Amino acid sequence: MDIKLLTQVEKESIGERQPLPDKYLRLSDDEMDERIAAAKKALGDRVVILGHHYQRDEVIKFADFTGDSLKLSRAAASKGTAEFIVFCGVHFMAESADILRAPHQKVVLPDLAAGCSMADMAAPDQLEIAWRELGQMGVRTDAIENGRAGLIPVTYINSSAAIKAFVGAHGGIVCTSTNAAAVMEWAWERGEKLLMLPDQHLGRNTAWKMGVPLDEMVVWDPNEMWGGLEPAQAARAKLILWKGHCSVHTRFTTQQIDAFRKKYPDGKVIAHPECTLDVVQAADESGSTERIINVVKNSPSGSTWAVATEIHLVNRLMLEVAPDKTVVTLDPFGCLCSTMFRVSPNHLLWILEGLVEGEIHNQIIVPDDHKRDAKLALDRMLQVPV
Ligand code: SF4
Repeated sequence: MDIKLLTQVEKESIGERQPLPDKYLRLSDDEMDERIAAAKKALGDRVVILGHHYQRDEVIKFADFTGDSLKLSRAAASKGTAEFIVFCGVHFMAESADILRAPHQKVVLPDLAAGCSMADMAAPDQLEIAWRELGQMGVRTDAIENGRAGLIPVTYINSSAAIKAFVGAHGGIVCTSTNAAAVMEWAWERGEKLLMLPDQHLGRNTAWKMGVPLDEMVVWDPNEMWGGLEPAQAARAKLILWKGHCSVHTRFTTQQIDAFRKKYPDGKVIAHPECTLDVVQAADESGSTERIINVVKNSPSGSTWAVATEIHLVNRLMLEVAPDKTVVTLDPFGCLCSTMFRVSPNHLLWILEGLVEGEIHNQIIVPDDHKRDAKLALDRMLQVPV
């Protein structure tokens, strides 16, 4: 389990983290359920609760909208009537909601320590250095030739608002695991090369499926001089992948796939594209959480699936979405996103009862200068047809 520490980037877009008051500890499950439902009812249309698929059941059952990052971004952008958006997810998601919200709305993250280790792997100063060094290595970073840029930055939505702002200000775009291929196509229409961050695996898996050979992809290590690359490597690359990863999805292995196939010869494997390339190649299917849900749900009754993604979604598939199928986690121990898990029903109750009493805890406020440029990158994404 990874322990989340607040980075400087995050401190810039939040107020002081308020700890959960003692009176919200040691409540029974029933009391919590009753009080959350009562507070939600009292707030009525003034509040909308968004819940990511990796949230625990005790929280997600109160969500008005559930989904992956793309679906929830669209929901945040479209729910203009609610005064408060309570985002049960992680920090970068609530930041995106704050960037896309209507002027009268406020966004709250129930526990400000709910971050994402992948998002923390790309810091704005590292990106500025990378951009400058790529220029020194001969990559066109600031000039348009024949209507095309030399380098277009593309950031996975799992990144800070500051990273999205840099990307937006440099002609780039945000993607999610649902629309990564369409977004990369958009970017290659406008530029010779892409710098994809922070998840190397989503970038590699998506480009490989689009037919880009592996020898036209290189990895940029932000902790190395010139990213650990020679200028000739950068010149030849069509895709420069930031050296970042998800600590949850990279735990899945091809050995686990072999063991599953041995036990269930007719079973199928579906993997999230944050898994490594060998796992995605060895799986029968791959895709975002929304695609995983749809594929498993629409498969023939009685079929068997091993799912390579976060354990709460796998359990929900097994018990609620596809109870007529056998659904197991690919990792026998189950992969838990410990930061998603930080949003507890206790936090949700505290937030909602606070709003009823006119108090806002844990509001996410992205600074205006970041917001303007990050919105450019998010809006470009929302206009790309999937
Ligand atoms: S599952 Fe991975 S990418 Fe998603 S929030 Fe958790 S650490 Fe971040």
